[in-house]
Amino acid sequence: MKKVGFVGWRGMVGSVLLDRMKEENNFSNINAFFFTTSQVGMKAPETINGEKILLDAHSIKELSEMDIILSCQGGDYTEKVYAELKKYNWDGHWIDAASTLRMADESIIVLDPINEPSINTALKNGFRTWVGGNCTVSLMLLAIHGLIKEGAIEWVSSMTYQAASGAGAKNMKELLVQMGQLHSSTESELKKINFNILDVDKMVLNKMRSSDFSKENFQVPLAGNLIPWIDQDLGKGLSREEWKGQFETNKILMNNYEKINVDGLCTRIGSMRSHSQALTIKLKKHYELTEINDLIKSANNWVKLVPNEKEASINNLTPAAVSGGLDIAIGRVRRLALDDNIISAFTVGDQLLWGAAEPLRRMLQILIK
Ligand code: NAP
Repeated sequence: MKKVGFVGWRGMVGSVLLDRMKEENNFSNINAFFFTTSQVGMKAPETINGEKILLDAHSIKELSEMDIILSCQGGDYTEKVYAELKKYNWDGHWIDAASTLRMADESIIVLDPINEPSINTALKNGFRTWVGGNCTVSLMLLAIHGLIKEGAIEWVSSMTYQAASGAGAKNMKELLVQMGQLHSSTESELKKINFNILDVDKMVLNKMRSSDFSKENFQVPLAGNLIPWIDQDLGKGLSREEWKGQFETNKILMNNYEKINVDGLCTRIGSMRSHSQALTIKLKKHYELTEINDLIKSANNWVKLVPNEKEASINNLTPAAVSGGLDIAIGRVRRLALDDNIISAFTVGDQLLWGAAEPLRRMLQILIK
C-alpha cells in the first residue's frame, strides 16, 4: 500500500477532504500518515490503516518517507517544504491546494473532468506535482463546461461573490463573531416593539467602526459589509485573485480546449461557504437560448441548470442551497440587451468541494490506481 502523508488536514480544505475520503472509502487502500505544524505527538484522526500519532510537518526526513504528500496547509508551507524536499532528492508525488506551484512548469493544475487528457499525458511524462486550481476558476470552468466544449466563447467577464470560508477556518469564525457583535450591539433596541430602525442602523455602524470590533483576520468588517478586493495587490489596479482567473483558466484549458479571455472583479461577501459568480459571456455567434441551456446542462455530471425564473433562482441558486454538495448550480441565463451574442449567467458552487478538496481527492485516486 502507498504511504500517503496529509498536511493541513484540520483546516477548511483539509477537513472537507478527509470527510469526502471517508465517504468514498478512500482510506481503505492507502497507509495514511498525518502531519501537523502545531500539534506534534498528539492523536491523529482515526482512519482505516492510518497511523495514530501526528508527525512533524517540518521534518523533511519523515516527509520524505511518503510516496505521496497531500498538502492543504497553505502557500508559505509549500514554499518552504517543497523546495527542501526537492533538495533532499525526494521523488514522490506532491498534491497541493495552495497556489504557490500552480503556474510552475513542473506542475499540472488538476481538474480532471476538464483536463484529464493533460493529467494522463503528464503522468506518462513523469510529472510529480499536481496542484488544485483557484476555487472560482474551477467552479466557473465546470459551470460553463458545455460552452467551452462547443468552442462557443469569445470572452467571459466574471464578477465574484466569494464566501468567508474561502479565506480559511479563522476567517469563517471571525465572520460569525462579527455577526454576534453586531447583534449584541442592537439587541436592546430590537427588543422594543416600536424599535427605531434608524437607531438600529446607527448602532450597527458605530459597532463596525469601533476599535473593539473583531477584524484581526479580514482587517475590516465583513458582516453587514463587503470587501471589494481579494488577495494581494499586484499593482495597476489588479488583485492576485483576478490575475489567477485570467492565467489559471488557460493553463487548465491548454491542450484540451481553445484559449478564452477571462477578466473581472473579485469580491468577498458575508456568506459562510460557497462562491457565487455573475458571468457575462460573449459568444462567437448567435445561439438560441434553448441551445445554450442544452449545452450547459449536458456538459458533466455535476452542473445543474436552474431555470431563469424567480422561485427557482431564489431557492436553488444560492450558497444556502448548494453548500455541502458537489452540484454546481448555474442559472439566470439570458440574452443581455447589450448585444445579440452576449449572455448573462449566475453560478454558485461549494468552493471547498469542487473548488478545492474534490480535484485533489480525485488526483490522489488517479495516482493510487
Ligand atoms: P485554513 O483553514 O486556514 O487551515 C490551514 C492550517 O491552519 C490548518 O491545517 C492548521 O494547521 C492551521 N490552523 C490554525 N488554527 C486553526 C483552526 N482553528 N482550525 C483549523 N486549522 C487551524 O486554510 P484553508 O482554507 O484550508 O486553505 C489551505 C490552502 O488551500 C491555502 O493555500 C488556500 O489558499 C488553499 N485553498 C483554499 C480554499 C478555500 O476555499 N478555503 C480553496 C482553494 C484553495 P496545523 O494543524 O498544522 O496547525
